[in-house]
Order: sequence, then structure tokens, then C-alpha cells
Amino acid sequence: MRSLLKVLTFSFLGLVLFIPSALADNSANRISGNTRYATAVEASKKGWSSASTAVIVGGDAYSDAIAAIPYAYQKNAPLLLTNKTNLSSETKNRLKELKTKNVVIVGGTPAVSNGVATQIKNLGISVKRIAGSTRYETAAKVANAMSSTSKAVVANGFVYQDSIAVIPYAAKNGYPILFTNEKTLNSATSGAIKSKGIKQTIVVGGTNSINGSLYSKLPSPTRISGKNRYDLSVNIAKKFGLSTSNTYITNGFRFPDAVVGAALAAKQNKAILLTNGENLSKEPRAFIGDKNIKTFSVIGGTPSVAAKVLTQLKNPAVGKTIFIDPGHGDQDPGAIGNGLQEKDVNLDIAKRLNSKLNSAGAIPVLSRSNDTFYSLEERVKKGANANADLFISIHANSATPSAAGTETYYDETYQSANSKRLAEEVQPRVVSALGTKNRSVKTAGFYVIKYSKMPSVLVETAFITNSSDASKLKSATLKDKAAKGINDAVSAYYR
Ligand SMILES: [Zn+2]
Repeated sequence: MRSLLKVLTFSFLGLVLFIPSALADNSANRISGNTRYATAVEASKKGWSSASTAVIVGGDAYSDAIAAIPYAYQKNAPLLLTNKTNLSSETKNRLKELKTKNVVIVGGTPAVSNGVATQIKNLGISVKRIAGSTRYETAAKVANAMSSTSKAVVANGFVYQDSIAVIPYAAKNGYPILFTNEKTLNSATSGAIKSKGIKQTIVVGGTNSINGSLYSKLPSPTRISGKNRYDLSVNIAKKFGLSTSNTYITNGFRFPDAVVGAALAAKQNKAILLTNGENLSKEPRAFIGDKNIKTFSVIGGTPSVAAKVLTQLKNPAVGKTIFIDPGHGDQDPGAIGNGLQEKDVNLDIAKRLNSKLNSAGAIPVLSRSNDTFYSLEERVKKGANANADLFISIHANSATPSAAGTETYYDETYQSANSKRLAEEVQPRVVSALGTKNRSVKTAGFYVIKYSKMPSVLVETAFITNSSDASKLKSATLKDKAAKGINDAVSAYYR
């Protein structure tokens, strides 16, 4: 008995330890603290072990932070945040750890009080302040404190989300970030443009942020905009070819995390992308899939970026476009038997797969989402138009009542090896989900898998004409398991 237990324990351990696939998941770590000040401290730890100079801004003053980062970059200084009336304890401790000798406060006393400056001085640190009476003036003064350059970024000083993703690029190239409102070039900004001899400007944000008339008054402007803040961050990363070898991800609606993330991304010359905090947004998702990005650092705690987003980032299929083709439809019912029509079963499983892939971070596209008929050519064309990475056609089988089980087909015309590999991931998982007979992976020149140029498979989930198989295809629970099996197969395929 004891030896049996040992064997059991041993094999259980073996199962637990034998998870080679998990080793090839994407990597996504989280950088966060309990407060915005603590998050800034944690980010600084990833970039600096010591810093003779640190830049400090008020925890509510995003415009000061945005303007400050390219300057901090030139000083190799981490960006720390503070409460405006009292030096935050996390920040105070971090200044000691960093052995900081000089602090530059960026922002006026409404953002960082003189009391805070005194508290920093009392640590034996010299303090300098760069501040104007408006955010425009503060940014202009920061620009004047930077090395000479002929280019600048111009952004709306009240729309922080426009600036975040451009910060690493501006910092690396020594471009100051200057502010305007939607339609007026203020005197501080125009003064900085003149005094620095700015010949070219990069404008971030659409015409709602900086209108056309103001844009035309800027020196040789180039505008980068997006459909939304997520899209803008992606467009900036694309336009400037920012390194995505480790991509920073932050909530596009949480400026304290976003500025702190941008400061660290700047230090490491990496891209920073914005997302919805609950669900990885479509635009960064697609960019991640296209660029095949595998390593991420998420800035902010769970109130800011949900655990689900990290799970999505860790999925090796994140951002991959998966074309799901539920076979048949409308006047073409497919196989019929045991009270089932194949077209309905296929659509049911396909919709479940669609929602699982979406929730897992992929980009699923359905050939049909209701009882519509499309020709086989149309299905292939839809998959190609979707620029799909994988094509998965879902069917159910029919034959004599004795035939039963699951089989997955691939074709050897295009992507034979990859199609086979995908089929081999799908087949055992659907068999295990439905508890069907394993009829194995096979080749056949079915139209949709023969003419789709991406890796493609056609799965025959079970036999509608077999009463035992049909009862499985009637079970919502089992259809859901089959969909989960295919979703897992897609992740496994990309590991
Ligand atoms: Zn069929």
C-alpha cells in the first residue's frame, strides 16, 4: 500500500513537473506598488541601482512628468513621484537607496510644495526646481534645460494619453515635449521653439487634440494620430520603429502608471503601449501578434491592469488572427441525424471557440456568425482577407450508424508541416473533450483547407449519424469542452 502510494505520488509529481509547454509561454511580469509613489519606486529599481540625480514630480501632475522625462533621460535620472505636501515615504527611502545627491523638482509649488523641497534638502540632497506658472511654461523651461536640438514633440498638455507612447522616442533623440491646447500656440511654447531653434515638430494626437490651424503654424509638422489612445500608441511604436524586444504595457486611463512606465521604457529604449485595463485592447493585440512580441512588462497593480491582461499576454497565441469556419449554413444543413443538423452544431462550437479565443487574447474571425450560407470559395477568400494566421474549419461527420469518433484533416498543398502540427494539437484535445473514439489525423484535399494558404485544419468533431456521438454533440457542456480543446490547441501550436 505504502509503495503504491509512493508510486502514485511520484507519478503525480512527474505530471506536475512535466510541463515543458509552459516553459514556452510568453513572459509578462508586473511592476507595481501599493501606491503610485511605490509603483514609481518599483519601476526605478528596474532601471537604476544608483542615481546621483533624480527627477521628482507631483503625483497628480502628469504634464510635468511628461515634460520631465526626456530631461531626466539626459541626466540618467529616474522619475519619482511625490505627494504634494509631504515627501512620500516610499520616495524618501528610494532617494536614500539610490544615494542621490541632486534632485530636480519639475513643476510648481501647487504640484510639489516648498515643504517637500525642504524635506528633500534635509536628507542632505541639493534641490533645484524647474517650474513655470503654467504647464506650458514648465515644459518650455524643461526644454531650455535640455541639450540643443532642432526637433521637438508638440502635444496637447491636457491630453496625457497622446504623449505617453512618444516619450521613449523623444527621450532617446533628445527632443523636448512642448504643450499647447487644442487651438492656441501659447507664448511659452512659441518662445521655446524660437529660443531652441526648432525646425521640425512631431505632433501627437488627432485634430481634437491639436486642430489643423494650430498644426499649420508649427515648424514642419508631422502628425501621428490614432482612432483611440490604444491605436495611437501602436501607431507611434510603428512609425518610430521602437524596440519591442520587451514591450511595456500600461492602462491608457491611469496616468500615474503610464508616466512611470514611459520613464522606464525611455531608459531602456523600448516601446510602451496603452491598453484597456480589463481586456487587452484590439490595436495593441494585433500589433503584438504581427510583431510576434513575446516579452512584456506591465506597469501598475491589479486595479490598473487586471490579471486577465497578463494571462492574455502570456498566451503564445496573443494577437494571432484565427479564422474559424463553421461548416455549412442556411439551405445547406450538412449531415443530419438523431435530431441534429450539422450546420447548427458547427456554429455552436465555433461561437464558443470564438469567445474563448477572444478572451485568451487572440483575434478570432468567424466565416459566419449565424445561419448563413457561404460558398467554399467565399470562406477561403474571407480567411485570406482577414490575413488569418490559422484557418480552422469545424464540421461533424456522417456515415453508417456504426461509424463513430473524431478526426482532424489537413492538406499538403500549402503549409503542410504546420497544418499537420496544428491538426496534431487539435485532434487529441477534441477526442479527450468529447470522449470520442480517436480516428486520428488524416490528409484530404477538402476545398477550404486545400486552398487556404495559411496553416489550416478541418476537424470532424463526431458523427451526427451515430447515436452515442450525437448525444455528445447535443451536450452544451461537451461542446464547450471541445471548443476549449481547440483554443488550447491554438496556444500549444504557438509554443
Ligand atoms: Zn460538414
